[in-house]
Amino acid sequence: MAQKRDYYEVLGVSKQANASEIKKAYRKIAIKYHPDKNQGDKQAEDKFKEAAEAYEVLSNADKRAKYDRFGHEAPGGGGFGGNYSNMEDIFDQFGDIFGDFFGGGGGGRTRGGRARKKGSNLRIRVKLTLEEVANGVEKKIKVKRQNICSPCQGSGAENGTAFSECPSCGGTGRVRQVMNTMLGQMVSEGTCPTCNGSGKRIQTVCKSCRGEGVVAEEEVLSINIPAGVEEGMQLSMSGKGNYPPRGGQDGVPGDLLIVIEETNEGPLKRDGKNVHYDLFLSFPDAALGTQVEVPTINGKVRITIEAGTQSGKILRLKGKGIKDLQGYGIGDQLIHINVWTPTELNKEERKQLEKLRSSSNFSPDPDKGDRTFFDRMKEFFT
Ligand SMILES: [Zn+2]
Ligand SMILES: [Zn+2]
Repeated sequence: MAQKRDYYEVLGVSKQANASEIKKAYRKIAIKYHPDKNQGDKQAEDKFKEAAEAYEVLSNADKRAKYDRFGHEAPGGGGFGGNYSNMEDIFDQFGDIFGDFFGGGGGGRTRGGRARKKGSNLRIRVKLTLEEVANGVEKKIKVKRQNICSPCQGSGAENGTAFSECPSCGGTGRVRQVMNTMLGQMVSEGTCPTCNGSGKRIQTVCKSCRGEGVVAEEEVLSINIPAGVEEGMQLSMSGKGNYPPRGGQDGVPGDLLIVIEETNEGPLKRDGKNVHYDLFLSFPDAALGTQVEVPTINGKVRITIEAGTQSGKILRLKGKGIKDLQGYGIGDQLIHINVWTPTELNKEERKQLEKLRSSSNFSPDPDKGDRTFFDRMKEFFT
């Protein structure tokens, strides 16, 4: 087993760091190496797990004290830290943290119970050619999103200070409603509609955002798309969605969801990990043999066509297909041979062919020489 790194070093905090600094540092790392953002990246996954383990220990006062005293060799056997064999374990363990940052929609809740606002997710579509799918690509994409208004720090109030207590709820953010129904009076409690639960009222509206707390911004993001993605797949970048309106400083931006689209242009067609190509050969080339260039996802390659090549034959270029997203192997390119029958003949050509018609070499005989189509298929699929 590899030497374990110091947990403080893993999270990039000092030995004196307090609980909130540790949490903050962990969040930062977790967001950066989150598997949604780094699909297929083994190194990112390891970093993610390493940070989760460090956080598990350093966020627990008792475990941290033991670790400070004994290092990785904790007494009582087993050392520290869970052995996270899969990502689900980590999400189970730290559900509350990821709820805030990766949960879909809605506001997360801090431990104090006060709602944190989460912004809405943004969705963009990215068109990829087969070459880009096969090799992975870095795409620069202009994204228009609501970002925090910096003059008011997302509050919507001028300078972030001009607040007074909300008169509807007296600053609690909650209101009780008494309704007269047929069954008598019913009391319900809910979020104050006047202040949206903040308990505050803006006195002077921020001029930059007109009280919204957010401003529209265009940002050019560079998105790393791993090799082997597929049509309809969705990648996500945490925190690159919209900032919540009037979310204040501790608002949580939504996520940017990147939906993959494959353009279906060009002579190469994808089928899972394999790539198919139809090659048309003239009859003389198929009969006499030749060399031809065929396109692949990594440029052209020269292949040899043997003399006597039948229509329907499939040639395989090993390893010239699409890489598996999880890193398990690579597909092939399959070249389907189609022998082209001429549709127009001049007098001279017709005469030559008439002469060949009676030759025994030209009458089909699948049992002799080249194997039959079905034999080839059997060989191909086994
Ligand atoms: Zn209110
Ligand atoms: Zn503002």
